[in-house]
Amino acid sequence: MAYIKLDRKAYEFNLDLIASKIRSYEKIICVFKDNAYGHGAKDLAPIARAKGINFIAVKNECEATQLQDIFDNILILSHIPNFNENDKFIYALNDKRDIKKIKTNTKIHLVVDTNMHRNGISFYEIEEVLNQIKNHQLKLCGVMMHFAGSDEFDGSYYVQKQNFKFVKEKVKKILGEESKKIIFHSHNSEALFRSSKLDDDEYCRVGLVQFGYAYFNQNLRKVLSLWANKISQRTLQPYQSLGYGGAYVAKNTINIATYDLGYGDGLFRYNGKKDLILPNGKKILGKMSMDNFSCEDCGDEICVIKDANEMARFFNTINYEILVKLSPFLERIVV
Ligand SMILES: *Cc1c(COP(=O)(O)O)cnc(C)c1O
Repeated sequence: MAYIKLDRKAYEFNLDLIASKIRSYEKIICVFKDNAYGHGAKDLAPIARAKGINFIAVKNECEATQLQDIFDNILILSHIPNFNENDKFIYALNDKRDIKKIKTNTKIHLVVDTNMHRNGISFYEIEEVLNQIKNHQLKLCGVMMHFAGSDEFDGSYYVQKQNFKFVKEKVKKILGEESKKIIFHSHNSEALFRSSKLDDDEYCRVGLVQFGYAYFNQNLRKVLSLWANKISQRTLQPYQSLGYGGAYVAKNTINIATYDLGYGDGLFRYNGKKDLILPNGKKILGKMSMDNFSCEDCGDEICVIKDANEMARFFNTINYEILVKLSPFLERIVV
């Protein structure tokens, strides 16, 4: 059966590296959204917890519920207010109109828009919004922002960082003593590793870097590899074609094998054109099926993804997308 192999040592190594950068495990918020970027949230969560991580961020209440017994602090990034918020969770407040729509006493982290213009309140509205939060008796526990270009080579990172400094000062000034209970966080994976040192008052909020990918740090170790198993084999004679549409035609006699993985498992569908090379150097032959692909016989087991960057390059996308699409139904094995 096709499966995902998760390398525990690699994951622990990456968490250690993040912790050494921010000088603490408690100040790491591990982003576990979308099934931990396709890796398998339930499989990696206990490893993170054992390392001292006790704060994660997820997409919605459904993901939070899955992990509620493992972590004490769970921040939900994309919540739609429902007046039925759970007091165990923390909710990102992405729009000031939500203040009236969230149940009183709910714990929130205020998202401030420091120039990305995706979510959050304008940083000119802080005073007004802090008042509204107080009036509606929401529990403000954190203030956060997100970078639009932490991996871009322009100056936007520095502009937003400066804006957030202003936000932090303003919040501290308005709330005084009360602000001591509030945490601040802004840095995602690339931002963390591109910064020389994070301000002492900041947590970090990292996703992809946990799994071994960051342009600004090449020492990380890849946590995931994807494997498929042989279902059948045959010998093709010259001019015999293979698979849907006969997209591959054998030139010479060739021993081929079909493996139990396809686009139904979350891979991008390979159309049989250009050369899609597997980690062992062999090409996929013909079009990929929903649950099968074929290539030259490489034995009972074959690695399909070792480094998501390779497949991302081929499909002209980013490593995030290759990983996150991997089906939650694939078996996960932690080694
Ligand atoms: C996904 C996400 C992150 C993590 O980003 P990485 O680049 O994977 O570290 C952090 N914050 C927010 C708001 C996100 O949506």
